[in-house]
Amino acid sequence: MKIALLAGDGIGPEIVAQAERILLHFRREGLKIELEPGLLGGCAVDATGEPFPDTTRKLAVEADAILLGAVGGVQYDNLPREKRPEQGLLAIRKELNLFANLRPVVLYPELANASTLKQEVVAGLDILIVRELTGDIYFGKPRGIEFREGQKVGFNTMIYSESEIRRIAHVAFQAAGRRNGRLCSVDKMNVLECTQLWRDVVTETAQFYPDVTLSHMLVDNAAMQLVRNPGQFDVMVTGNMFGDILSDEASMLTGSIGMLPSASLDDKNKGLYEPIHGSAPDIAGKGVANPLATILSAAMMLRYSFNEESIASQIEHAVQKTLEQGYRTADIYETGTKKVGTLEMGDCVLENLQSR
Ligand code: NAD
Repeated sequence: MKIALLAGDGIGPEIVAQAERILLHFRREGLKIELEPGLLGGCAVDATGEPFPDTTRKLAVEADAILLGAVGGVQYDNLPREKRPEQGLLAIRKELNLFANLRPVVLYPELANASTLKQEVVAGLDILIVRELTGDIYFGKPRGIEFREGQKVGFNTMIYSESEIRRIAHVAFQAAGRRNGRLCSVDKMNVLECTQLWRDVVTETAQFYPDVTLSHMLVDNAAMQLVRNPGQFDVMVTGNMFGDILSDEASMLTGSIGMLPSASLDDKNKGLYEPIHGSAPDIAGKGVANPLATILSAAMMLRYSFNEESIASQIEHAVQKTLEQGYRTADIYETGTKKVGTLEMGDCVLENLQSR
């Protein structure tokens, strides 16, 4: 199994290095993986003039999975749009046809204070948001701004085909089957025909998953329920635009951006795995970044692309134990806990894996 390691910019190299140590630990224990570094984002622009150079494209296509740190930095903000680091990220997602974005939102009991919501509302929070990533109003045509009857008019097209809805529905049902067996599909069928089709196709797909209980919710209600009673959700599935908004809302329930991993998968479970946070230029190079979201992204990679459920949960347990032992990077530090840097946090997780 070949893993492309794209550390990227800012804190990327520091956090990916810690996830790499974890992967190397399992390689020593017999996991057959090969790790190959590559350039994406600003570092690729610096080295080659392109945010997604051909060598990285080749590596990404050949690899079975990709672990990414983050891309971006103020020094690239004035480059032409097509040369900006973020374009590298969009290009790799498109090249690999990564249509399913999975974002687990887990609140560790030890970090309950980090949430802005009341502890009793977020206690035990464990949701998986499955967002369609390559369709919807973000890509639909026609689109544009034009003059009509003497004034400018802006327009976009919300569009989904049956096959696009079906493939993301299958991903979501399978994910729910691996978890607590409850799937909530989010749409706006009371006003948008496109999402009436969404609801119909998701309902139809349910017949293949008799063990999963399907429910439907309108997106405005879903946004409200996420802050009112998030514990009611197991897996949520929705389109690109609603998913963009709901997944950010859900991730903020935990209050700790440095803890949340993500996966973007194609139809063969090849995936790009990355923390949901950015390159954090304000703390880059200081050795204080939280590497746990990246380590948890590596765990997701083992679960979804390599079917190594047992190794994935060992990593998740080691992270959990590290928090229980009181170790915290600066972003999640509270009085009474032990503040550590990026490297020490990696050491703690590794020690907990070795001592199991
Ligand atoms: P950010 O997520 O990088 O940082 C927001 C805040 O969270 C900062 O204060 C940062 O220090 C903190 N933070 C983020 N990750 C952390 C971690 N692991 N440990 C401790 N603290 C952490 O968002 P931003 O500041 O808006 O963006 C910075 C750059 O990252 C921009 O160039 C942006 O375009 C890019 N970006 C990249 C991605 C990606 O690669 N997927 C995602 C979002 C933003």
